Amino acid sequence: MGSTYMQFAIIILLTGQLTHGHHWGYSKEEQAKWKEHFKSCGGHRQSPISINEAIGRKVRALKLGNYNDPLPGPLMLHNNGHTVALEIAHPQRSQSVPYVANGLLTKRYQFESLHFHWGEKNDLGAEHILRGKRYPMEMHMVHRNKNYPTMEEAMKHADGLTVLAFFYKLDENDNKQLDQLVKHLPRVYAPHANITLTETFALASLIPSSEKRRSYFMYNGSLTTPPCSEAVTWIVYSNPMPVSEVQLNKFRSMFGHDSHTKLINNFRYVQDIGSREVIARIPRL
Ligand SMILES: [Zn+2]
Repeated sequence: MGSTYMQFAIIILLTGQLTHGHHWGYSKEEQAKWKEHFKSCGGHRQSPISINEAIGRKVRALKLGNYNDPLPGPLMLHNNGHTVALEIAHPQRSQSVPYVANGLLTKRYQFESLHFHWGEKNDLGAEHILRGKRYPMEMHMVHRNKNYPTMEEAMKHADGLTVLAFFYKLDENDNKQLDQLVKHLPRVYAPHANITLTETFALASLIPSSEKRRSYFMYNGSLTTPPCSEAVTWIVYSNPMPVSEVQLNKFRSMFGHDSHTKLINNFRYVQDIGSREVIARIPRL
């Protein structure tokens, strides 16, 4: 009876793997295999990177449009097994979806979703390394070039996406603004949990003030998760925001794909910068 049950269990496991396509994970061994199933992951324009040297350039300000208006609700919070993501349920019905434009961007990019990368401990979690420093958490706000109708289409083009990246540094106090999201996390601890929020808020409330957003780094890279599409203009802000250990622990209490594994250390290792240049924005007066 035991062996019959075992065979049955193994068949279920294998079937599960096949129906979900290629599973991927964040351990060193698993990351090394991403390129076997997702060719772009082995490309030469990959992210994240370690930012050390950069070329200073006078660049006009980025425009963050509709960032001060409440996001058009309802908002959805989703544990996708790799991270927790916030998105607008019906962006096509709304006129006031946030966007980014200007700076060195030649197109307008519309907000799609935001998500986080975090670690098990406080000295790791962020994906980009800034002058040798690795912060405990990083937030990505993903924007799609409005010339492309879907994410799937945008991912096929070098100018398809712009991601704004923000770091968090450990602070003894809670980040009250971040609590707008963190307070809902216990409801998405289970893998693939998906909830609708009854309230909404402005994206600007989640990021540093415009004064603290004057400096940023910019480079051409990729998605940091499979399929690692080389479609992303990265804008990485150097001024970190605060986060408390209590708040970080709520992210660390989430579960990944199966309900036995904690969702932690969901960051990709840094990739070779190769011949790419990083631009450091010098505010143009
Ligand atoms: Zn990300």
